Amino acid sequence: MSEGEKKYNNDEITIVWKPKVCIHSTLCWKGEKGLRQVFNPAEKPWIKPHGATSNEIIIRVNNCPSGALSFYYNDEANNSESAGIENIIEVLPNGPLLVFGNLKVIPI
Ligand code: SF4
Repeated sequence: MSEGEKKYNNDEITIVWKPKVCIHSTLCWKGEKGLRQVFNPAEKPWIKPHGATSNEIIIRVNNCPSGALSFYYNDEANNSESAGIENIIEVLPNGPLLVFGNLKVIPI
């Protein structure tokens, strides 16, 4: 477990948040893709794992650009943090790219 790592679980999954890795992109809670009923930095605890379905939460967790959010299934048979991860490249206005997925970055 990394320093300061926190876990929040519902009946199906456990959400893992690594605050030292979070780049405060706001993607998990702000805008049309945010899931404010689960991720709300104005409240404590800021993650409420019962605020949406597990599938909705997994989509947001997999869109975290820093890897600060991850999850695993509570059921050992399905226990894999990378389950359901897709590799996605999202193009933002004026060119920046958001890359999501289980990737390895190799500096040149
Ligand atoms: S999406 Fe990830 S990096 Fe962005 S605020 Fe949420 S936890 Fe932090």
